[in-house]
Amino acid sequence: MKIDNKQFLNTAQQTIEDPVLQAAYDKAIPRFNSSRQDAFALVPDVEELRRELKAVRAATIADLGTHLQTFERNAQAAGAVVHWANHAQQVGQIVLDIARRRRAKLIAKSKSMVTEELHLNQVLESAGIKVVETDLGEYIIQLANERPSHIIGPAIHKTARQVRELFIEKLHQRVDEDPAALTDVARHALREIFINADIGISGVNLGVAETGSVVLVTNEGNGRMVTSLPPVHIAVMGIERLAPDWGAAAVWLSLLARAATGQAMSIYTSVITGPARADDLDGPKEVHIILVDNQRSAQIGTKYEEILQCIRCGACLAACPVYGEAGGHAYHSPYSGPIGAVISPLLFGLENYPALPQASSLCGACLEVCPVQIDLPRMLLALRVDSVEQGLVSPPMVAAEKISARMMKKPGWMQFFFKTGRIGQLMLKLFNISFNGFENYPMVSRQSFRDLWKRMEADDDRQR
Ligand code: SF4
Repeated sequence: MKIDNKQFLNTAQQTIEDPVLQAAYDKAIPRFNSSRQDAFALVPDVEELRRELKAVRAATIADLGTHLQTFERNAQAAGAVVHWANHAQQVGQIVLDIARRRRAKLIAKSKSMVTEELHLNQVLESAGIKVVETDLGEYIIQLANERPSHIIGPAIHKTARQVRELFIEKLHQRVDEDPAALTDVARHALREIFINADIGISGVNLGVAETGSVVLVTNEGNGRMVTSLPPVHIAVMGIERLAPDWGAAAVWLSLLARAATGQAMSIYTSVITGPARADDLDGPKEVHIILVDNQRSAQIGTKYEEILQCIRCGACLAACPVYGEAGGHAYHSPYSGPIGAVISPLLFGLENYPALPQASSLCGACLEVCPVQIDLPRMLLALRVDSVEQGLVSPPMVAAEKISARMMKKPGWMQFFFKTGRIGQLMLKLFNISFNGFENYPMVSRQSFRDLWKRMEADDDRQR
């Protein structure tokens, strides 16, 4: 599937024109931002902690091969089976083999963006295996047959009223719009799934090489159920989600929940080190860890290596003005917002996602909030350069960009352009002509910033 400018703009336009969607985003996004700001403000030296996390992530990625080998060795020593997969098909095959061997009919899943990336649910369902998402947001969008709109809040585009209607239609449950009541309905429906599932599949927030452990961070406890009640647990992990030791993991965890949801710690942090021991009261008999590459190692040593430092907190989404208006579905990728605009072309091919590097005002808000200080604007620009070099940008657009670059270097030309732009807008409005949506843009100001500045200086001189 190719996501060009038209597709991005069409979906974005639909979101912008849908008052229910806008209301849902307008409610969720400021909450993410203010919680993160409050949580960061409580850390004595948050900038120092961010620098530390950056250093830890950069050093790990620079020596990823060694850390992965250590992780594999220690995970095996703890009794886990470690699999390596280069691409989606291999992951599907590994999971299907395990499911067939266990004669699995029902799989309980906890939230995992990497399995979204690999379309794992579709692979399992087409083999006749029922898969049920158990994270509340994922459960809602699975019932609604939709895609996630946010990497940590997959159903933030849905209002409580819509969820209530969905539960009435799909679960035949009469329920109030109250979030607590809705959660209760989901909890009851999912309890049966946890108990009866043959296999639990989870993502991995981070792996720790030192002990071969996988760490899951959740707020609902479903991760713990999925990984401890079914007899088999399969953890699907991107190869970059690795901390060399528990010291590095502690730095990572101290910023993850703060950046994601504004919590000092998420409610549940589950550490899984191999299957249940003989004297454990519960836990799976088999633990499989699938280490997924899927174009990640191809970024190492390139100008995009930094993207592998991402801890998928979602802070850049809430900070991004484009995401806030266009919504997550406009990106047509499991990864939306600024991180999605960079990582989707890198993982799935720039030729398939040529619109996404353009979906940014390059305001820098994403860099400002990122707990790992990932320079997303730099990589968005680099992808734009690559797009032009690979012939993915139309010649008229390249010509327009060249003209605007020249004009921006000449203030006189800029003045002329804005003045004539205003006249053009007035003409379009007067004669009711549609021109690429230009007629809908806010009117170009009658006064330029330069004119305003001159007037302010003149006023100051007069007052002196
Ligand atoms: S790029 Fe930074 S802010 Fe965005 S999801 Fe990754 S770690 Fe979080």
